[in-house]
Amino acid sequence: MDDKFKLSETQQNRLSELGADVEQTPVFSTSGERDKYFQETEKRLSRENKEHLLDLLNNKHKPELCALEYTLSDALCKIGFTQVTTPIIISDKFLERMTIDGSHPLSEQVFRVDKNKCLRPMLAPNLYSVSKDLLKITSGKPLRIFEIGSCFRRETEGRSHLKEFTMLNLVEWGLPENERSEHLKQFGKAVLSAAGIDEYDMISENSVVYGEGLDFVGRDGLELASTSMGPHPLDARWGINSTWVGIGFGLERLLMYRENSRGIHRFSKSIAFLDGARLNVK
Ligand code: ATP
Ligand code: MG
Repeated sequence: MDDKFKLSETQQNRLSELGADVEQTPVFSTSGERDKYFQETEKRLSRENKEHLLDLLNNKHKPELCALEYTLSDALCKIGFTQVTTPIIISDKFLERMTIDGSHPLSEQVFRVDKNKCLRPMLAPNLYSVSKDLLKITSGKPLRIFEIGSCFRRETEGRSHLKEFTMLNLVEWGLPENERSEHLKQFGKAVLSAAGIDEYDMISENSVVYGEGLDFVGRDGLELASTSMGPHPLDARWGINSTWVGIGFGLERLLMYRENSRGIHRFSKSIAFLDGARLNVK
């Protein structure tokens, strides 16, 4: 069928940003039919997005991303984790200690701030640093901490990647070595079910920083979280000698998966979307 009776690229983009699945759009026998379909769909979706925003302003008040952060923080504090909050701007030295130097694959994804600083692409370096100090005062007892905060990676933004995203990274130190896998499963389940996610798998995956580990993935193969465990060769660089397990989740990924959405952007920190709804609607 002739191309001109499909939605134009501009029309597709507009419907897509309003939340339509444009791959499911019919093909039209006249341009008039096509434009009529576009106008009606645009109007209906704009109204739905507007209603969502008005409900947020009048009733709900807290966007899902903020609500999720709160819910997960609460769930982790209830099982003995302590929340920490650390700077977004970190020194190159911290990344180098994670083996991320100029030749590392992740280094190209790092946003530079000035000569010796960058926006953190992960929470792990700061968590290592804080943990080293806390472990000195906990007399060898298990220590559980986590942080939730923005991380930055120069990604080609696909449907599941953002340049700025919200990471939840938890770590438990000092647990018995033979309980590490069990704890990873337990903590993963605690976070995912608090996020409203019950269907997922654990599969083996290779990390560019930690090597072999397990990932939590959705039923469509979407990576929800990566895990790692120690003792690990990196620990000595941070002056730490302990067993540990850690998991990093992307909060926008959790929302995208839970809401069965085709794209992550509507759940991101954004000036185009708020709480999953498109902002420029009338
Ligand atoms: P992917 O393979 O999907 O690019 P990754 O293995 O590079 O992810 P990790 O370093 O394991 O990511 O980060 C832990 C979690 O943070 C991921 O499982 C994912 O949920 C989330 N995440 C990582 N990068 C992004 C991104 N660019 N945008 C949104 N979420 C991300
Ligand atoms: Mg990963």
